[in-house]
Amino acid sequence: MCRHLGWLGAAVPVSSLVLDPPNGLLVQSYAPRRQKHGLLNADGWGVGFFDGPVPRRWRGANPLWGDVSFASVAPALSSSCVVAAVRSATAGMPIDAGAAAPFTDGHWLLSHNGVVDRSVLPLDPLAESVVDSAVLAALIFRRGLDDLGSTIAEVGAADPGARLNIMAANGSRLLATTWGDTLSVRRRPDGVVLASEPYDDHPDWQDIPDRHLVDVRDGSVSITALPH
Ligand code: GLN
Repeated sequence: MCRHLGWLGAAVPVSSLVLDPPNGLLVQSYAPRRQKHGLLNADGWGVGFFDGPVPRRWRGANPLWGDVSFASVAPALSSSCVVAAVRSATAGMPIDAGAAAPFTDGHWLLSHNGVVDRSVLPLDPLAESVVDSAVLAALIFRRGLDDLGSTIAEVGAADPGARLNIMAANGSRLLATTWGDTLSVRRRPDGVVLASEPYDDHPDWQDIPDRHLVDVRDGSVSITALPH
């Protein structure tokens, strides 16, 4: 399982979300605290952020801690909406930068933490990679993010062994699901962070129950149970 993070709020340097916190994604890439599947996340990483309405991505196939450029440039990349992930590849999946989240349809950035049997998903020529997460992302993009909860419940019913933890954003809205793994939310004065696990020990972090949808927009956070 991977670890991922989403931010919606004021413009902040991406390094302040990903690299600087004591237990941020950088540390989670080698010492996650709550990960249930896998010991580390060394099979790649991706940081996506909105530049106005345009999603931009920087991804790599190597461990985030070994990247020679990201730490230098990240403090200069500021955004009000970020989706980032560190990856522990599922057995049999390709390990290349194109298989690392976040995926995009040109409007949304999307990360999947989990595993799904690709045979329950439609083949989609728009999938960015053959990795299960990219095929799932293509289905979610095709159905539309307004239907994220029902799409996840449907895929979960078709593959009872699936773990379907999604993080997605389009610059003005941040959505996440819990389906088999952890997620926490922190409401900060300047915005909202969703993360597979808290990036520090601040008391404001709140755990999201399993099989829920989190929808952040216009400064408010709604948490609802998914059908199952
Ligand atoms: N199945 C996806 C992959 O192989 C995600 C893996 C994960 O969540 N660790 O990349």
